[in-house]
Amino acid sequence: MSSLLIQNGLVIQADGQRQEDILIQGETIVAVGQELGVSGQTKIIDASGKWIFPGVIDPHTHMGIPIKSGTSADDFASGSRSALHGGVTTILDFTVLETGQSLFESLEVRKKLAEKALCDVGLHINITRFEPEILAEIPHLISMGFNSFKVFTTYKEAGMMLTYREIETVAEIIGSHGGVLMVHAEDDGVITAASGVYADRIKTHPEYHAKSRPAEAELRAIEQLGEISKRTDCTIYIVHLNTAAGLVKAAEYPLLKVETCPHYLLLTEAMYKQADGRMFVSSPPLRTAADQEALWQGIQDGLVHTIGSDHCPFCLGDKAQNIPFQDIPNGMGGVETLFPTLLAQFVERGLDLSLLVKLTSSNAAKIFGLNLFKGILSLGANADLLIIDPDSITRNWESGLDTILDWNAYTGLPAMFPETVICRGEIVVSTEQVQTPSKGKLLRSTSAG
Ligand SMILES: [Zn+2]
Repeated sequence: MSSLLIQNGLVIQADGQRQEDILIQGETIVAVGQELGVSGQTKIIDASGKWIFPGVIDPHTHMGIPIKSGTSADDFASGSRSALHGGVTTILDFTVLETGQSLFESLEVRKKLAEKALCDVGLHINITRFEPEILAEIPHLISMGFNSFKVFTTYKEAGMMLTYREIETVAEIIGSHGGVLMVHAEDDGVITAASGVYADRIKTHPEYHAKSRPAEAELRAIEQLGEISKRTDCTIYIVHLNTAAGLVKAAEYPLLKVETCPHYLLLTEAMYKQADGRMFVSSPPLRTAADQEALWQGIQDGLVHTIGSDHCPFCLGDKAQNIPFQDIPNGMGGVETLFPTLLAQFVERGLDLSLLVKLTSSNAAKIFGLNLFKGILSLGANADLLIIDPDSITRNWESGLDTILDWNAYTGLPAMFPETVICRGEIVVSTEQVQTPSKGKLLRSTSAG
């Protein structure tokens, strides 16, 4: 079995920072401590003066998901390669429930596609139909280690929405079996009222996308979901929270977990005024600078639990110009820049790097039942880690991306890319270049709830 020693790095974990060595055998960390002794066969990486972080868990990606006209631009192979370049060693993606399919069938389809991934993959189960047969599958899926389910409070026309009453029934089942309910929280009534103003479908400017999905939609939905979490005792994970009002409301409910995304932390609705404004169209939309600052404050106050990329990229040609704003494909890439841009922000803002670990790996591991092996660098954990030069901050990184995409949202922002990434003991990125990684593994939750 191969053996690898990483010496003298500053190991940054959720509970603090220590100068330590990490010894890896095969896929697993077998020792963490001072001056570990090794045999002659052990490969040694000198990490003196470097930072070591746990491999990043991106809890929210959409690799190759079907849209009206094709799929999002990255499939599991290309997207996971980009992920590794940016330090993400685990992605949690979603099943897609097609008409007539059971949840199990939808899981089998995505499992097959995810076999191409070069990093580890977990799958959340989308529930977009409320039927007795579908509900009956939930306990069995949880017992198989698929403990997270996602529902939508909007997208009625697309046939994806569940009513609050239906969501409550789903939450009761999931809560009583120790699973997690994830919710896309935008109130459909608020959106329908706001977007009805543009029913003539002649508006093409992307800023109408934001106007048609007002911040109030999030507040209304979170209020309802908070009450559902109390009544059902189910942990409800709010995906891509993006408004100040939503954050304040979510903090009132202990069973709500909050995810935000890099685009809400790094960009504002001003982007829609740019010449490439259509490329920033995603749902929920980008918000005001005040919302953005509230999210940063919420991070420091412990009100945000995870940061997921909501990676759903499109190339320039995929988003046609001058079409009704309703027809612009929704989504942006972000899995590759997730950690590098956030780390640079944490450094520039002087924030605690252990907090960054919580937000980008250890909290997601706990919420989704992966914490025995992920989000922590300790004996028995998967050897997923990043080595980063503290002096590597740069605004000039775009040409170094390992991506099939021809556009990214974060051009010119400061970023710090890992020089080395190790995924299950294998060096998958070296001198900031992706090597030839083996395939990732499909993850199952080992501790429901
Ligand atoms: Zn999403």
